[in-house]
Amino acid sequence: MTFLAVPLFVDAAEAIDDCLERARQSVARGARLIEWRIDALADDADAARHVEHLVRNAPAPCIVTCRPTSEGGLYDGDDTDRISLLEHLATGEHRPRYLDVELATYTRSENLRQKVNLAVAHAKQARDLDTSLILSSHDFNGRPADLLQRIESMTKEPACAVVKIAWLARSLRDNLEAFDLLAERHKPTIALCMGRFGLMSRVLAPKFGGLLTFAADRPAAGTAPGQPTLDDLNRLYRFAKIGRDTKVYGVIGWPAEHSRGPLLHNAAFDAVGHDGVYLPLPIPPEWEHFNATVGAMVDHPRLDFRGASVTLPHKEHLLRFVRERGGVIDPLVDAIGAANTLVVDDDGTLHALNTDAPAAIEALCNGMNTRPADLAGTRAAVVGAGGAARAIVAGLVAHGVKVVVFNRSRDRAEALAADFHGRQFGNAPAAHVVVGEHDALGCGCFPIMINATSIGMADGPAPDENPFEAFTGGDDVPLDDSVTVFDTVYTPERTPLIREAEARGARVITGGGMFLRQAALQFHRWTGKDAPTEKWRHLLQ
Ligand code: NAP
Repeated sequence: MTFLAVPLFVDAAEAIDDCLERARQSVARGARLIEWRIDALADDADAARHVEHLVRNAPAPCIVTCRPTSEGGLYDGDDTDRISLLEHLATGEHRPRYLDVELATYTRSENLRQKVNLAVAHAKQARDLDTSLILSSHDFNGRPADLLQRIESMTKEPACAVVKIAWLARSLRDNLEAFDLLAERHKPTIALCMGRFGLMSRVLAPKFGGLLTFAADRPAAGTAPGQPTLDDLNRLYRFAKIGRDTKVYGVIGWPAEHSRGPLLHNAAFDAVGHDGVYLPLPIPPEWEHFNATVGAMVDHPRLDFRGASVTLPHKEHLLRFVRERGGVIDPLVDAIGAANTLVVDDDGTLHALNTDAPAAIEALCNGMNTRPADLAGTRAAVVGAGGAARAIVAGLVAHGVKVVVFNRSRDRAEALAADFHGRQFGNAPAAHVVVGEHDALGCGCFPIMINATSIGMADGPAPDENPFEAFTGGDDVPLDDSVTVFDTVYTPERTPLIREAEARGARVITGGGMFLRQAALQFHRWTGKDAPTEKWRHLLQ
């Protein structure tokens, strides 16, 4: 069992009651250990009495830690005084379950080591004590060069009951090393990575048998960079459900942290009873980072990495990765030149898919109340020539739709048309994709008009603009009930284009439906089960 431990900084004597209340609330929300961080309290003349009070009234077994500044804490006093305080506690009437002492302190002087050894339970202890020693080591700059020696030094100390190592991860790959340390442990071990790359080590600690993971009781209350909140661990990542066989998924992007993927896919795993967890997986933009990190995750023998959603700027990298590894590439992905879904089969076979293309067609047909087969021969204007536009054009021509592309940068539109025009997709006629002059957008000859630019997107380049007006210089684009306007932008759901088109009587399709469908197709490919899309709609409201 991996404990959820909530660390609480006790800044001053006046904060004790509040901290005890926070501890009680944390235990009610699933915490099984409380760590009292007494770095700032230890200087108080009455420190021993205050900490005894904290230990006696703690609503769960507790760890007492007085971390010096040299290891990222706040205590800058004398080491002997601090260790004497810990010794006093562990030999008193109300004893903590654990004392945490840094390996560096423990090995600095024989005197400190003896003092610690006198205070904790171990095989040669003559006294009747029940507090165990966590020996710990932290590096806030990166992976320590002597990581393995530190683990060995802590493990071989007879008084050490728990080995704790934490370092600032430089990439997702550091988590994999933390998992290897846990898998090869000789004593109960805590191995955690800090910072934006370290979340995986914290969430997956139960999969690899870590003794505990730390969680902040509220946002911004963490004691180390990258510590998740109790609510995120419990509700978003379903911490209690994570075990040895849990399969790992995630969203790969740069950044990846703001994706709604974890909210949707973890809730869906829960709904269908799939033993999986979905995490943000930030990977820096360059191909080398993608290749090294995704390669290490796929190859890791115990991670059970089974798939990922892949977003900007890695969609082309995914295609290259799967191609170089001899995996299976969906024909649409080949044409689009980018993939948004990685599937890793149980036997290690890799698949690159693009669920944006079928999701766009599903959303379009659903909005038009028609079948995909009935699209053949219709004409569509696609505004934009980026990744979304390429996926949509692929979906359209695969169903026999004739496409005219409009884009700010004409060369990009021409490249798109050149890649698709005349190409054969399945049984559809040879693809018809040409580039349009901007004023032709107002010709009144497109029953389907699609925005695949980021115009109208909140926080995008032109959140208040209507892309059709931007392209025609404000000239009237005929919109009435014979025209279907599909805006792929989904934040906000009601873009300036959607509002205008609706006001003028056109049939409108918002981007949210496509977004949910592309996620549902990924989910189905990973689990073989239908995603709970109604639940998703509710979650996104
Ligand atoms: P991308 O590859 O970066 O392409 C952006 C496109 O927008 C390009 O055609 C670009 O034109 C155009 N553009 C950007 N700013 C513009 C401006 N100020 N004026 C005129 N054109 C402008 O991005 P993407 O991946 O294709 O995504 C585009 C949009 O699609 C995003 O807003 C996203 O929300 C949406 N999308 C939705 C879904 C969904 O599931 N609903 C899925 C994927 C994407 P240039 O070529 O001239 O730069």
